[in-house]
Amino acid sequence: MKFQFKYYSLIALVAIVSFGQLQAQNKVLIIGIDGTRPDALLAARTPNLDQLWENGAYSFKAKTDDLSWSGVCWTSMLTGVWKEKHNVYGNGYENPNTEEYPHFFNLARQQQPDLRTYSIINWSPIHKILNNNDATVMKHKLTDGLVTKSVSKTLRNEDVDVMFVHLDNVDHAGHSTGFTPDNPKYIKAIEKSDKNIGKILKSLKKRKNYANENWLILVSTDHGGSGTNHGEATPEHTTIFYIASGKDVKKGEIQKQVYITDVAVTALKHLEIAIKDEWQLDGNVSGLK
Ligand SMILES: [Zn+2]
Ligand SMILES: [Zn+2]
Repeated sequence: MKFQFKYYSLIALVAIVSFGQLQAQNKVLIIGIDGTRPDALLAARTPNLDQLWENGAYSFKAKTDDLSWSGVCWTSMLTGVWKEKHNVYGNGYENPNTEEYPHFFNLARQQQPDLRTYSIINWSPIHKILNNNDATVMKHKLTDGLVTKSVSKTLRNEDVDVMFVHLDNVDHAGHSTGFTPDNPKYIKAIEKSDKNIGKILKSLKKRKNYANENWLILVSTDHGGSGTNHGEATPEHTTIFYIASGKDVKKGEIQKQVYITDVAVTALKHLEIAIKDEWQLDGNVSGLK
């Protein structure tokens, strides 16, 4: 009798643990807004982003790579290591070291092979560090509007575990009219991105199983800019914003220095991937409890 009691208790315990896991299905949505200076973001009218950071963890003093080109910085964000390791030194992606330092989707899938990973982007070179079978990717020659539509449809209909979204129009506005909070066209592009993010968040909440999912939403950028360019090590180019939103974040301004490499590491942590020393990641977990 005693043995049986223990046996049934064990079954009950296993059932509770499994149920618990079903209840908290951790998922990650990363939104990257290319070329967005934090001071301009704060000057713009962005109700959707405000909702995320005012109820989340944030830093408007985070740092990207000193070599502030898109290719370098997006690769740092998505691999969790700096350029000395991932070896992307410009927008040409000549010889990326994805063998040793792969996209974090690949790291996650080493431990969870069934993880459903999606990358939907406007600027196609970002996918040069992904093989087609690493993730469901959307092809080139897009606009932010088309990216937003595709993201919304995918979030409503597919069983997504982790998604990276890239919007490019703010960077276009910066290059054509100036990366500065004083430029109404640059501000307007940020406000348009906020509208797109509003649509994406609405679709996220419409997911059939949303009540049983625990989404971490990370929003950041690859670099800032000044004049009509970026690429330098100046604060205007290298200061970025970092927003983490979800049940598991520690609300308020993040006191430590946040880096662009923290994005991949924080995403892995939330996906409950055991971060291995041999991966030699440079980023840290930022904004979680
Ligand atoms: Zn960029
Ligand atoms: Zn640019």
